[in-house]
Formats: sequence, C-alpha cells, structure tokens
Amino acid sequence: MQIKSAEFIISNTDYKKCPKPDKPEYAFIGRSNVGKSSLVNKITNRTKLAKVSSKPGKTQLINHFLINQEWYMVDLPGYGYAKVAKSSRQKWEKFVQDYLLTRENLYCLFVLVDARHEPQKIDIEFIRWLGEKGIPFSLVHTKSDKLSVQKLKTNIELYKSELLKEWEELPPSFITSSVNGNGIDELLEYINSVTVGNK
Ligand code: GDP
Repeated sequence: MQIKSAEFIISNTDYKKCPKPDKPEYAFIGRSNVGKSSLVNKITNRTKLAKVSSKPGKTQLINHFLINQEWYMVDLPGYGYAKVAKSSRQKWEKFVQDYLLTRENLYCLFVLVDARHEPQKIDIEFIRWLGEKGIPFSLVHTKSDKLSVQKLKTNIELYKSELLKEWEELPPSFITSSVNGNGIDELLEYINSVTVGNK
C-alpha cells in the first residue's frame, strides 16, 4: 500500500468524540519512548505527523489521522510513564480502555514493544487484558536496527515463548525500524490485507 495522503483529524480523551466509525481503523500503543511517534511518521512518510499531536499537554490523547481518505490511523497515548501520578494513570486507563472496548471499527491494535528488551511485565499484562477482552492485536518489535541479528533473534524468541505460556496461537508480529525502514512495507501490506478481508 502506498500512502498518498495523511491528515490529522482530531485529538481527544473521549471515545464518544472520535470520528464516526465508518472506516477501518488501526491503532498504535506502547510504553512511552517505545518509538511510536517515529513509527507513525515513518509509516505515513511524514516527518512531523505524530508530533502535531504530541505537543506538551497533548500527549495523553487519542489522536486520529485519516490515511488515503480510506482508513484511520490512531496514535494512542503511551503507557508506563514512571513520572505520571496514579490519578492521571487511572484516568489514562479509563479513557484508553473505553476507546478499546467500544471502538467497533478497530480492525487491529498494534502493540509496540522495544526489540532491545526482554518481555516486560507491563506489556505482557496489557496483552493478557487484550486477550480477555477479545481485542484484535498484533505485536510490533521496534528499533530493530539497534541490535545485532543474533540478539534480535534471541529477544523475539523470548517473546514468543513468553506468550506461548498463555496463548495457544501467536499473534501476527512485525519487526520494524524507523531508522532504516525495515518492516514498514510488511506492516502496510498487513493493514491492507486485513481491510480487504473485512470488506
Ligand atoms: P514514543 O514516545 O513512543 O513516541 O517514542 P519516539 O518515537 O519519540 O522515540 C523515542 C526515542 O527513540 C527517540 O529518541 C527516537 O529517535 C528513538 N527511536 C524511535 N524509533 C527508533 C528506531 O526504529 N531506531 C532507533 N535507532 N531509534 C528509534
């Protein structure tokens, strides 16, 4: 799939104010600093798209972008901020959960994990919750350019065996880099195939 247009639509904390759910939607989530903004920009081939919505004070929002006039890309707030107070974390959980549980046109949630790290408790718990709620998701291993081929392989295998402790089947997964562009075409092709499959 070629990205012909990418347009910022709206930011908010209220799932009821999201655009009408009349187009396929794909959302991105992960711990803060996992490389989400970089990936959103790389996928859309725009250097500043995600930055538009991540100005200070706007980072904790559900951000909608319209791609090719055909589908929504959603940049969700990152989780696991060490410095965020419990009260705002609970607020985050509430509105992101509301969004994930009610968004009927959400075809896939991409859960980003940093390829350099072994499986982290916070990500595994979040993935478990997605499973319990039946929310469709895929895994994206980010920053793959930062590891040797061998180390990357080891970490991916670790992730797989961690998930297989709880899952009978592994979710689709992607290995990406926003620096060298690895995995971006595969991710876009996957989005395309899911959209076509749902038509
Ligand atoms: P976010 O907080 O998840 O939106 O993360 P950012 O996209 O802002 O990235 C956090 C940091 O990781 C920044 O310094 C990026 O330049 C860096 N980064 C993000 N993606 C990659 C990647 O694929 N490769 C490398 N080497 N660095 C990355």
